[in-house]
Amino acid sequence: MSTQAPERHEFQAEVKQILDIVVHSLYTDKEIFVRELISNASDATEKLRHTQVAQKDADIFDADLDLEIQVTSDEEAGEITIRDFGIGMTHDELIENLGTIAHSGSKAFLNALKESGERNENLIGQFGVGFYSVFMVAESVKVYTRSWHKDGQCYCWSSDGSGAYEIEEVDGERRGTRIVIKLTDEYKEFAKKDRLEAIIKKYSAFVQFPVKVDGEKLNTIGAIWLKSKGDVSEEEYKEFYKFQAKAFDEPRFWLHFNADAPLEINALLYAPTENMEGFGFGRMEPGVGLYCRKVLIDSQPKSLLPDWLRFVRGVVDSADLPLNISREAMQDSSLMQKLNKVLTKRFLKTLEEKAKKEPETYDAFWESFGLFLKEGVTTDFTHRDQLLGLLRYESSYTEAGKTTSLSDYLSRAPEGQKEIYYLYGPSRSAIESGPYFEAFKARNIEVLFLYEPIDEFVMNHARAFEEKNFVSADSDDIDLDAIAPETDSEKGEALEKDASEALCQFIKEKLGDEVSEVSASERLVGSPAMIVNADKMMTAQMRKMMKAMQQKGGGPDMMGGEPPVKLQVNPRHSLVKNLATLRESDGELATLISQQLLDNARMAAGLLEDPSQMLQRNYQILEQLSAK
Ligand code: ADP
Ligand code: MG
Repeated sequence: MSTQAPERHEFQAEVKQILDIVVHSLYTDKEIFVRELISNASDATEKLRHTQVAQKDADIFDADLDLEIQVTSDEEAGEITIRDFGIGMTHDELIENLGTIAHSGSKAFLNALKESGERNENLIGQFGVGFYSVFMVAESVKVYTRSWHKDGQCYCWSSDGSGAYEIEEVDGERRGTRIVIKLTDEYKEFAKKDRLEAIIKKYSAFVQFPVKVDGEKLNTIGAIWLKSKGDVSEEEYKEFYKFQAKAFDEPRFWLHFNADAPLEINALLYAPTENMEGFGFGRMEPGVGLYCRKVLIDSQPKSLLPDWLRFVRGVVDSADLPLNISREAMQDSSLMQKLNKVLTKRFLKTLEEKAKKEPETYDAFWESFGLFLKEGVTTDFTHRDQLLGLLRYESSYTEAGKTTSLSDYLSRAPEGQKEIYYLYGPSRSAIESGPYFEAFKARNIEVLFLYEPIDEFVMNHARAFEEKNFVSADSDDIDLDAIAPETDSEKGEALEKDASEALCQFIKEKLGDEVSEVSASERLVGSPAMIVNADKMMTAQMRKMMKAMQQKGGGPDMMGGEPPVKLQVNPRHSLVKNLATLRESDGELATLISQQLLDNARMAAGLLEDPSQMLQRNYQILEQLSAK
C-alpha cells in the first residue's frame, strides 16, 4: 500500500540514448538480460555479505535471510521474477543507479573500498548499462526494493524503458530486490522454465551464491579456476572438465594457472583424452569458455586460442574484460590477442614439460592430438619452432610404435650430417623394404618414418629444425658417403665405369621422355633401381597429390603432363650387370627389361597407378625367357 502518489521521473537525456543503444545494438543475444540481472543480484548479495563481514556492528534489516538468488516464472503471463536478498536500494539510490547514465553503484562501491584500502574481487558489474538490457525483451519492468538499513522504506521503481520511470512507496518487502519482468509477446518464450534454466546454466553456472529456479539450485559446481591449485582436488578437476566440456571422457591432463601481469587471468585448460575429430565428428569448435568474474561472456570464442588448439577445453576468466560487450566486438580486440598469446605460450610450455617429465603421458597425447600440432606447424608461423620441438616420429632407430623427437634425432646424428632425413610411406615395413632406405641402412644413418599425408607438408613448411634442413631420403643429391661409409663390406663387384655409362645411355634411349636422366648410383644396395627426386620439394608423395589434383580437373597442370623422373640403377646388382651384357646379345629383351625396371621403380615409389601396361610387358618378358 503506497502512502504517497507515485513520482514520475524522466530518464536523463543520455540515458535515453544509452537505452536505445543497449536495446538495439549492444548485445547480440537477447537472452543475456538474464545474465545481467543475475549478475546484479549476485553483486547486491556480495555487497551485503561484505558489509556483514566488514562492519560487525552493522544493524542489518532482515539479518537472517539466506543469501541466495531466487528465480521464478509464469509462462502463461509471460513474466519472470528475479529476487535477491542483497543490499537493496534506497529512494535516492534507485534514481542514481537506475535513472542516471552509466552510473554504476558497483563501481562506486569499489571506489569507496579502494579509498579505504580494501579490495573486493567478487563484484561483477562496473559499467552501469547491464540493467537496461532487460528492455530488449520487456514490455514493463518493476523493481521492488528494500535497503539493508534498519530504518528504510520499500519502493517500487517501474518503467517501460521508453522515456520515464516512476517510483512509488510500497509495503511489505523483505530486504533486497525483486525484479518483475513482463515480457513482450515476441519474447514470451524466455518465461518457459526449461529455457530459463538453460540460460542460467549457460551464463551463470558459477555465480558464487545459490541460484534457484522454483526452489531448485542450478549452480552446483563451483568456479574452481579461481581457487588456488592446492585447494582443488583431482576429483574436482575431473568433474569440472566433464561439466564444462560436456564430455564423456576423462581429461588427459590440465593446466591451471593464475597470472596478474600483463593481464589478470585465471585459466583452467584441459587436454581431453579422446580426439573427437579423429572419430569423424567433423571439425571441432573452440571450447574454452571466456568468463569475466565467473560470468560467461562467450562459450566458444574464436580468437581466444589459435585454431590448432581447438581441441582444448576449459575456462579463461579475466577481470580485465569488459562484461558489457558484444561478441562481435570481442573477436578482434587487442585484449583477446594478448590473452591468446599468454594462453598459447602457457599451453605449449605445459606440453614441453609433459614431454620431458612424463614422456608416457605426452606420447599418449601425441598419439591422439599430434595431428593438431602438425597443423600448427603448417599454419602458425609464430609458434613453429616450439611446435617442431614437440613433433614425434618413428624412425629407423626406434622400435615400431615408438617415436623420437627431432632433438633426439640430431643428438644421434654423426658430425658430418647436415640434414634431417625422412621417408614417407604407408607403413614401416613398406618404407623399410623400399629402395630408398637401403643406402641409409647400410650406413646406419637415421631416417624418420612419416606415415601421414600431412607430414610431408609439415617438412616442406618448416624446411628446417635447428638449422638442419629436412630432406626426403628419395632426393637426388644426397651425398651419404660424406656422412658415413657403408658398413657392409660385402659390396660385391660393380660394373666397370664404361660399361655402366653405356648401359645408362642405352636405357635412357629406350625410355625416351619418360625419364629425364639415367645414372648409376652408389646409394643402392639390394635393389636394382630407384626413382629419385630432382626437386627436393617434389617428393613422390607430392607428385602423387599433384597428379590426383590434375586428374580431378581441379588443379592447374603445374607439371606439364606426366612429370619426368630420374632413374638410378645399381651397378652392383646382378640384374643390372646381366642387362649390360644382354643389351648386346638381345636388344629387344633388354629394352623390355629396361622398361620393366622403370615401372618397378615407379611402383616402389608409389607412383604407378595403372599396372595394365606393365603386366602386358611382364608377360612378354616371361614369354621370351620361357622360350630360351
Ligand atoms: P553495473 O552492474 O555494471 O554496475 P547495471 O546497469 O547492471 O550496471 O546496474 C546499475 C546499478 O544498479 C548497479 O551498479 C547497482 O548499484 C544497481 N542495481 C542493479 N541491480 C540491483 C540489485 N538487484 N540490487 C541492488 N542494486 C542493484
Ligand atoms: Mg550489472
